Amino acid sequence: MELPSSEIETNLRNLSATLPEDVRLVAVSKFHPAEAVISAYKAGQRIFGESRVQELVGKYEQLHQVAPDIKWHFIGSLQTNKVKYLAPFVDMIQSVDSERLLEEINRCALKHGRCIPILLEVHIAQEESKGGLEEEELLELVEILYERYEEFAGVELCGLMTMASLTEDEVQIEAEFLRLRSLFDRIKYSGMLRRPDSFCELSMGMSGDYPIAVRAGATLVRIGSAIFGER
Ligand SMILES: *Cc1c(COP(=O)(O)O)cnc(C)c1O
Repeated sequence: MELPSSEIETNLRNLSATLPEDVRLVAVSKFHPAEAVISAYKAGQRIFGESRVQELVGKYEQLHQVAPDIKWHFIGSLQTNKVKYLAPFVDMIQSVDSERLLEEINRCALKHGRCIPILLEVHIAQEESKGGLEEEELLELVEILYERYEEFAGVELCGLMTMASLTEDEVQIEAEFLRLRSLFDRIKYSGMLRRPDSFCELSMGMSGDYPIAVRAGATLVRIGSAIFGER
């Protein structure tokens, strides 16, 4: 059941009121139709997150003429052979988790004369099923981007993303977000980046845990069901 437009608007307004001004909201519209995106758009929302390529491309095609200033963030697991469908228009890929994927995003971006903002997804949660780079792999990718800077002109490293464990234990969730924050600080302030000023996003927090993420320093929160209802 899709929520009526007025309810989406109310949810957005209530949410925005609880977020500090410097935290931006990514409205996660996955599994909801383009009409739901339009309801949120009319209420002033501009950044939307999607986790499946085909669904995102479909919504982009439906909406780019009526809502050309939507910023689309890809937040799901991404196969290299599908990057080419996103490269012409995606505004950020938050879920970069391998060197191969990084290379493919770079290749497709350059082909379109673009530089695509990316986040590296870090595996912090206890669940093995959650994606993302282990700490060592993360630091390796950061180093690759540093060493092969000129080759990687098609991507801009803007920060880190994670999903916390699915648990009621708020102490654990907070510890996980703080761990991402500390990895972020370590990378930002230790000379591992060509453009440290661009490295400024910490994407963490969903409907169930975003207040904890905000306290831990999130700059982007990705919220779906608290805006659009259950999927
Ligand atoms: C679905 C999803 C979200 C939003 O989840 P909600 O619990 O609906 O807020 C956030 N981040 C990622 C990576 C997701 O896949």
